[in-house]
Amino acid sequence: ELSKVKQVRSDNLNPALFTYYKKPLLVHQGHMQWLWDVDGTRYLDLFGGIVTVSVGHCHPTVRKRAEEQLGKLWHTTNIYLHPTIHEYAEKLTSTLPGNLKVCYFTNSGSEANDMAVLMSRMYTGSYDILSLRNCYHGASPYLMGLTALNTWRYNVPSGFGMQQTMNPDPYRGPWGGARCRDSPCQVQRSCDCAEGQCEAGDRYLEQLEDVLRFSMPKGKVGAFFAESIQGVGGTVQFPKNFLKRAFEKIREHGGLCISDEVQTGFGRTGTHFWGFEGHDVVPDIVTMAKGMGNGFPLAAVVTTPEVANSMGKALHFNTYGGNPLSCAVGSSVLDVIEEEGIQNNAHVVGTYFLSELEKLRDDFEIVGDVRGKGLMIGVELVQDKATKTPLPAEDVNSVWEDMKDMGVLIGKGGVYSTVLRIKPPMCLSMEDAKFSIAVFRRALENYTAK
Ligand code: PMP
Repeated sequence: ELSKVKQVRSDNLNPALFTYYKKPLLVHQGHMQWLWDVDGTRYLDLFGGIVTVSVGHCHPTVRKRAEEQLGKLWHTTNIYLHPTIHEYAEKLTSTLPGNLKVCYFTNSGSEANDMAVLMSRMYTGSYDILSLRNCYHGASPYLMGLTALNTWRYNVPSGFGMQQTMNPDPYRGPWGGARCRDSPCQVQRSCDCAEGQCEAGDRYLEQLEDVLRFSMPKGKVGAFFAESIQGVGGTVQFPKNFLKRAFEKIREHGGLCISDEVQTGFGRTGTHFWGFEGHDVVPDIVTMAKGMGNGFPLAAVVTTPEVANSMGKALHFNTYGGNPLSCAVGSSVLDVIEEEGIQNNAHVVGTYFLSELEKLRDDFEIVGDVRGKGLMIGVELVQDKATKTPLPAEDVNSVWEDMKDMGVLIGKGGVYSTVLRIKPPMCLSMEDAKFSIAVFRRALENYTAK
């Protein structure tokens, strides 16, 4: 069967679609945190279809609600009202702070971010949009200019008016890690410098100020995009208060602050429902997708009435955005997160997972860094800890393939593709975490023994 599928793949599917693993997986069934291939082999899914399956594959409650809606109404487009979109918009915005009340529904994160660019240009009248290096905001030709990893930016103009700024990465950033004026800040899971003591944080802000003063058209910036924790870029967490101070600077220069919560939203970081809440900021625009629909295509841009009204004079059209089926699924996902204590589970299981991974970091030379929050975890592999030289791709792949052969699927990312990414459905149990750690340890031992 696999050879037939491979044939169809090479003849009928665009080669730009990439698949994981030397022997690609042919999965045909999923239940909660588990996947089965066509031969009946079961895998623990620690990547959830790229951080998208939030409450579990084919979750029974979500499935029931989707089936009910399938029997009622699938589609209207926005030319008619329908109760599902109203129920969902109200429920979704009740999770957001401040005046973030107005939704525009789309079908993917890229569409949501495109829309956020458009809105901020309409609102501010400024064209230029800033992002951070190592970010990922989407794959439309428009957004390729914002997305700062060249794997995802190819032979197209880089997106006019889009500019990536600095790389506030405590592990690999230009200041070699966040430094505290008080004492060496041992940045591990995240920077914890005392107020006013984070030297690296100050340097990054000076850089941002430079960009705002010397690279932007005078006194003008449309918006600043940031993920609360960079996902595709390798689970990068910023120095403490960096985002808060960056937002203040952008606002001083008249720009809007956009939080891309495509990966970090819906309880993923454990301590908060939205990743930005962990930075003590309230954005002007929030974009979301992935975990929102638990795998069903659903995304949104949520903003304040003031910013949304800037679109009042324009008509914007998205045929499938906010369709009854996707809104029913989204609404049910919110119920499940609440009813099943999913966010708290991400916190408890994620904290345990991180502390066990730190033991692997202490025991193995190639585990350079362990970072993340809740069930958004990255493990960076290096040749040696002192130089942080990236581990060659074939070595990273051997650990990653070995884990798959032992029944655990994980993701990869980061600038050098050396960050192993653990972002499972958030129903993951403590027992699953223990099993995964044992498999991870065995894969590292196998690699070391080679
Ligand atoms: N923003 C972030 C932070 C993402 O991780 C992604 C997808 N990896 C996107 C936007 C784009 O989402 P989509 O693939 O649904 O267009």
